[in-house]
Amino acid sequence: MINIILLGPPGAGKGTQARKLVDDRGMVQLSTGDMLREAMAAGTEMGRRVADVMSRGELVTDEIVIGLIEEKITGGQGAGFIFDGFPRTLPQADALGELLTRRGLRLDAVIEMRVDDAALVARITGRFTCGACGEVYHDATHPTAKPGVCDVCGSTDMRRRADDNEDSLKLRLMEYYKKTAPLIGYYYARGDLFTVDGLGEIDAVGAEITRIIDARCC
Ligand code: AMP
Repeated sequence: MINIILLGPPGAGKGTQARKLVDDRGMVQLSTGDMLREAMAAGTEMGRRVADVMSRGELVTDEIVIGLIEEKITGGQGAGFIFDGFPRTLPQADALGELLTRRGLRLDAVIEMRVDDAALVARITGRFTCGACGEVYHDATHPTAKPGVCDVCGSTDMRRRADDNEDSLKLRLMEYYKKTAPLIGYYYARGDLFTVDGLGEIDAVGAEITRIIDARCC
């Protein structure tokens, strides 16, 4: 079992690589962004509370996301956890460390995916996903073969995130540099940090991540 964090700005490819690891290695993806969007779609009280904050591109409170993660980590699971979009602040990183220790688990690697801002804007503004299977597409670089129809599962439920626009992205990026980027130093100092070039092809980035995981585990 191996537990990793994928760390990087919005659009770095964390979700795409997490999905690959789920498919290839049977790991469990824990994305706080997905959990929050599910809560919004289900219309829960918490979902209503975070909707505005999320659409602006700000971070929701530490308390909410730590609570969400706490519910999911009830023990060791399968091949291990991929934390995707969590932690995003130093208090969240401390809370995750304590939580893993309490559950008898450890963090094996923090993989920083580095991508420059200009590439992030281009990636985010054309992004859409299949609501049924989660496949990620892009207007310019990875369109569906048939407009509006998922290549993988045939669904026509294509979705664009409300916060995938240039204004929200600017705020999300600044939130990342102010509150999340300090985690790079935090994990580097612990000897847990590995950095990959997130600009490469999906499979090349995936191979690099696999190499890091294999070196850290077992
Ligand atoms: P993501 O799907 O990871 O890009 O997250 C989308 C939005 O959900 C973020 O812009 C935040 O508003 C919120 N969010 C997700 N994860 C966290 C987190 N760990 N801490 C605070 N806010 C979060």
